[in-house]
Amino acid sequence: SKAKVFEKGEATNVTFKDVAGLTEPKTEIQEIVEFLRNPQRYTDLGGKIPKGALLVGPPGTGKTLLAKAVAGEANVPFFSMSGSDFVEMFVGVGASRVRDLFRQAKEKAPCIVFIDEIDAVGRARGKNPNMGANDERENTLNQLLTEMDGFGSNSGVIILAATNRADILDKALLRAGRFDRQITVDLPELKDRVEIFNVHLRNIKKDDTVDVEVMARQTAGFSGADIANVCNEAALIAARNNKKTVDRDSFMSAIDRIICGLEHSSKIIS
Ligand code: ATP
Repeated sequence: SKAKVFEKGEATNVTFKDVAGLTEPKTEIQEIVEFLRNPQRYTDLGGKIPKGALLVGPPGTGKTLLAKAVAGEANVPFFSMSGSDFVEMFVGVGASRVRDLFRQAKEKAPCIVFIDEIDAVGRARGKNPNMGANDERENTLNQLLTEMDGFGSNSGVIILAATNRADILDKALLRAGRFDRQITVDLPELKDRVEIFNVHLRNIKKDDTVDVEVMARQTAGFSGADIANVCNEAALIAARNNKKTVDRDSFMSAIDRIICGLEHSSKIIS
């Protein structure tokens, strides 16, 4: 889901319970929750708290959800921006927005700053020379690097960024003291898909013709977002057919629809 340009340091009620599967990423990111809850435990021993981590994985796998859950678990404000929002900005605007965001974040520390689609601003510099918009992207990236270097590692601001293309990122972003930790967020395996279905079926009035195991097996290659979509679509299909509950047939039609959509979009890309 697209982050708004700035979610202004809102509290979030998302927790790890809402994030199904992702066992490894949750374990890896747990340490950041601990830093935010109790920074002194680390700094007293002379440890430096990392500035951030990069969440890497395909679209819809729960990177935004996971970042929000870190803020929710630690009970700290969540700020966010999306890299793609900066691409079309007028000269100077991107950099000043980044400056603003970090100023606000520092005031509310400890907190999380989440940068979705960081590749849109963080692509390697000078690789894609297409007019002025590109200069502005570089200005924005430079400002981001400046901000990351500018606050001490114990400031309590932790930056999480998401991308599905870590390979195209400017190496400067990945240097020690910046995004030097990467967390891989992969497509869900069978048992993870069962869990994701269960999360999204919580509020669906399904009947006992529905078999979650079977649906999980039929949805290999689906992301968490696709599965969320299936559940919602199934409810809409059932309602359209004047059913009182969401039955197996509604889910099967929903799965078919999403598969068609996925095939269609991969044809467009390739
Ligand atoms: P993008 O790269 O497209 O921004 P993303 O990896 O940030 O995607 P999210 O925005 O976190 O993905 O996921 C979109 C929605 O899909 C979530 O709000 C949630 O409803 C559902 N979803 C994705 N992954 C999971 C998961 N592991 N557990 C439960 N729900 C999930």
